[in-house]
Amino acid sequence: MTSESYDVVIIGGGVIGSSTAYFLASQPDFQGRIAVIEKDSTYETAATPRSAGGVRQQFSTPENVVISQFAAQFYKSIGEHLSVGNEKPAIQFRENGYLFLATHAGLKTLVANQRLQHEYGATTELWTPQELEGRFPWINIADLAGATFGSANEGWIDPYGLLQAFRKKARSLDVTYVSGEVVGLELVNNRVAAVKLKEGGRIVCGTAVNAAGYRARTIAGYAGIDLPVHPRKRFIYVFDCREEFDSDGMPLTIDPSGVWFRPESGNFICGVSPEETDDPDCTDFELDYRPFEELIWPTLAHRVPVFEAIKLIRAWAGHYDYNVLDQNVLIGPAPQVPNLHFANGFSGHGLQQSPAIGRALSELITYGEFRTIDLSRLSFARVASGALMKEDNIV
Ligand SMILES: Cc1cc2nc3c(=O)[nH]c(=O)nc-3n(C[C@H](O)[C@H](O)[C@H](O)COP(=O)(O)OP(=O)(O)OC[C@H]3O[C@@H](n4cnc5c(N)ncnc54)[C@H](O)[C@@H]3O)c2cc1C
Repeated sequence: MTSESYDVVIIGGGVIGSSTAYFLASQPDFQGRIAVIEKDSTYETAATPRSAGGVRQQFSTPENVVISQFAAQFYKSIGEHLSVGNEKPAIQFRENGYLFLATHAGLKTLVANQRLQHEYGATTELWTPQELEGRFPWINIADLAGATFGSANEGWIDPYGLLQAFRKKARSLDVTYVSGEVVGLELVNNRVAAVKLKEGGRIVCGTAVNAAGYRARTIAGYAGIDLPVHPRKRFIYVFDCREEFDSDGMPLTIDPSGVWFRPESGNFICGVSPEETDDPDCTDFELDYRPFEELIWPTLAHRVPVFEAIKLIRAWAGHYDYNVLDQNVLIGPAPQVPNLHFANGFSGHGLQQSPAIGRALSELITYGEFRTIDLSRLSFARVASGALMKEDNIV
């Protein structure tokens, strides 16, 4: 039985685990050895490559606004951070913005969120329906009362490219990627002494990080912790629009119904989250076309009249690591097992949060505190305290 030893063992090598590994390995004050344990280096079932890649500042909680501002700056200067030698990651941040639409019923919330976003440095603009029509003439404004548009630092990025860039850079900084599946934690005096692998053997650690995405609850269970993060299936549908129109500058648009859409490589992608009452835990990848036929298509045709003539091309499924308490990340150590850190529960916004969360965890592990963005209110401790951080803008 093998028994290696690392100062920090990160369980899961998706975008969160790999970002954490990169930021930790780049911390000048951190000198330890880092291992990332990943059970599937193809990332076939991971959430990261199945993401829509969206980046926005249009959130309802200050921390989420600031977290994504850091992401946008990071992506704009990605070559400075993630180049390996002379090789710069070929990842484009497409800064087309996010567009939130509201009817009269949603206008008050839209205005309140825009004020909060402004207060925390976002450039979110509040538009009347006429201003909206002037800017994006392809939108039907008949039933709208207003819209908000992020004129900077919002858009989308290639999720798989970002993951690979973090991973490659982390490896170049001597992070070891171990191929294996964690099936248990060895606890000694309420601390994680080692992680156990399905393939046999154990890896001794000083600190463990749970970055297992929508499977994080299983890892937490090995430490006797009930993590309120559940796997929730989401679909992305790809469609083609027969009629030509000027969609180049189209933002990622969120209809008042919750249906979202954006351009992608000459086609369009879209989706919608189900009602809470119709959103069971599940980890399968079976596709369901009913949401597209029953809700998305009619909504698209109503909102963008040229979308009446569209053709569904394909679809895929992926899973949110959904925090059922307040739809926000749980970051930092579990009080009952202080050397086990969590970074779970992103509820559909983990891709864009990966740079700030990786940096925050590297600070927590190195200094025992947040140094750049104070994420204390998002700490794991709120599960016990009940001081929840409800995010209302979940897409
Ligand atoms: C359809 C969809 C659309 C999305 N759109 C957006 C978006 O527009 N913007 C945005 O910011 N976010 C979006 N997200 C959310 C985002 O993709 C996730 O929050 C993010 O990718 C989570 O990254 P992760 O590294 O935590 O999880 P994952 O990418 O799932 O990585 C976890 C890794 O852990 C590994 N693992 C699990 N268990 C073990 C174990 N026991 N042992 C070893 N390895 C293990 C897995 O193999 C996996 O590779 C979307 C998600 C989905 C599903």
